[in-house]
Amino acid sequence: MKKYNIGIDLGGTKVLCAIVENNKKAASNPKILFEVKKKTKKEKGNKKVTAKLLEALDELFEISKIKKEEINSIGIAIAGQIDRKKGVVINACNLDCKNLEIKKILTEKYSIKTKVYNDVEAAASGELLFGAGQNHKNILCIFIGTGIGSSIIIDKKIYNGASGSAGELGHVIVDLNGRSCSCGGVGCLEAYASRSAIEARIQGAIKKGRKSIITELTEGQNISTKHIKQALDAHDDVVTQYVNEAIEYLSGGIASAINFFNPELVILGGGLIQGIDEIYKKTVKLTKAKALKVASENTEFKKAELADYSGVIGAALTEE
Ligand SMILES: [Zn+2]
Repeated sequence: MKKYNIGIDLGGTKVLCAIVENNKKAASNPKILFEVKKKTKKEKGNKKVTAKLLEALDELFEISKIKKEEINSIGIAIAGQIDRKKGVVINACNLDCKNLEIKKILTEKYSIKTKVYNDVEAAASGELLFGAGQNHKNILCIFIGTGIGSSIIIDKKIYNGASGSAGELGHVIVDLNGRSCSCGGVGCLEAYASRSAIEARIQGAIKKGRKSIITELTEGQNISTKHIKQALDAHDDVVTQYVNEAIEYLSGGIASAINFFNPELVILGGGLIQGIDEIYKKTVKLTKAKALKVASENTEFKKAELADYSGVIGAALTEE
């Protein structure tokens, strides 16, 4: 077995490529030896996204001085709907990519075995193998950031479902006559408890004339997790109200999933959870209060441990 693997996390705002030591022993943290991160905000469509990705990979080879022949495999995690077997991105809305034959492109260019994963699946796999999920069998992984992604792990294996979409907790319906969701549906949890949902509520309130410190903090830029944290720390009324509202919905959604699945462990991760400890703690407390006692009394809660690297590590080191 060759010494190194490459892991790639390709999302709507950035591409992160890393050379990871090919050490599959659980409990020994995989080492990220080299990494290249590039913004992908402006790159939309198959051609531009591919060009950016190849640019980042070429740079990774250049700075690491590691040769293609020393790489065992490339694993790429993409935020979107993918065909694992064919290695094709069927649809990635954030990147505006459709039917992108990513496996073929990478194999032809680098002649290295390539695996393609959905980003949430790769992140859950990273946590299972090397993060918070080690030593657990039946796990629910939930990542809360721009959207809400989740993954079901049964007997240490990711459960994909009949068409590969299992675990879409973000699109569980929490209000039949509610807000529109990015999926085209109505009343999905993601439209109530994601960072985008909180951002929309805050902006709506400001437009209606409510005053919030967030206006000064953002200086006209988009609201980030950091801004939300600063506003919470300053006890800003508007931000506190909408963050609390989001936590009410989020804990309701997670409690429903626990009642349904009865997992031994719930791992919470993603930007909002990693960036704001208060959100993590309140979510856990309210989830426990809302779930059925019999379903939740033996359920443990943990924060994701690999942070920004769960996708890269999962993509690099998951065995097919
Ligand atoms: Zn939806």
